[in-house]
Amino acid sequence: MKPFFKPKAYFRPGSLGKAVELLSNFGDRAKVLAGGTDLLVQKPSGAECLIDIADLGLEYIKEHENGVEIGAATTVRSIGVSGSLSSEPYLVLRDAACALGTPTIRNMATIGGNICNASPAADLPLALMVLGASLTIMGPAGKREVNIGEFFENIGGKNIQADELLLSINIPASRGRCGTSFQKLRHHQTSIDIAIVNVAARMTCEKQACVKASIALGAVAPTPIYARKAEALLGKKRPNAAIIQEAASAASEEVNPIDDVRGSKWYRKKMAAVLVRRALEESSRRCGIWPE
Ligand SMILES: Cc1cc2nc3c(=O)[nH]c(=O)nc-3n(C[C@H](O)[C@H](O)[C@H](O)COP(=O)(O)OP(=O)(O)OC[C@H]3O[C@@H](n4cnc5c(N)ncnc54)[C@H](O)[C@@H]3O)c2cc1C
Repeated sequence: MKPFFKPKAYFRPGSLGKAVELLSNFGDRAKVLAGGTDLLVQKPSGAECLIDIADLGLEYIKEHENGVEIGAATTVRSIGVSGSLSSEPYLVLRDAACALGTPTIRNMATIGGNICNASPAADLPLALMVLGASLTIMGPAGKREVNIGEFFENIGGKNIQADELLLSINIPASRGRCGTSFQKLRHHQTSIDIAIVNVAARMTCEKQACVKASIALGAVAPTPIYARKAEALLGKKRPNAAIIQEAASAASEEVNPIDDVRGSKWYRKKMAAVLVRRALEESSRRCGIWPE
């Protein structure tokens, strides 16, 4: 049995400047600690110290005229119960938060940790991808913005350096009427298992037509992905059962899953189509254009 992870040092800085200074000093030997629900289970090799971000004022959800800003240390529970996220287009994020783990995990887990852990099966990144969110990251050279779609690289890879900290997630306000959906398949729908396949979708509608669609899938490729061919099949049309089925089949062709303990490649491809169909049906229902 592996020895339990015992860091040599623990820091709880009270300012962003101090946190980044510590990260710069320790480099790869430090790990940012948020809720710890991934980190303390993984017991990262080479990590000598933990830098706890609990006192940095990063736990908030702020509505403003250009959208919503969420602090990286905001818990998944706070997102699931937030009044600011209880209408479209944000329902996809609320629903993804409510589908993550168990109440105990949601009380501890943070949105920033869910993103920075960079699991291809994580729930919240998919919702943020269809919402077109950007990330504010701070390092020794100052702050930079990254689109969430450009954050994930290969399996577990991410566009953030060891001396950088994710500060916030910025979701732009929606232009036009939107309907969204989050769908998740796990071993037993009531269990705490992570996704076999998960899907987020968003439709922007004008009158009775979908003018823009966004579809993101998880656990079916080395990183979370957009289903670009499926999205293109939906644009500028009123969705009906045939169009939605065609888009769902196209999405299934775009994915490249692996066989693992949770499901086979074959099963994941089949279920990707099922979940995309359900997500598009719910998105168009929430947009008020389904059924015909
Ligand atoms: C029983 C169980 C069930 C789970 N179920 C699900 C599930 O259904 N769906 C799902 O998506 N996940 C699930 N998870 C995984 C985990 O709970 C989530 O990924 C969670 O959101 C991680 O957040 P955290 O705050 O605990 O991150 P931590 O464990 O503290 O950190 C995770 C990683 O992100 C880094 N990090 C954290 N915050 C920052 C920051 N602000 N800047 C830079 N780096 C940062 C850490 O250094 C670490 O590498 C589950 C975990 C467990 C133990």
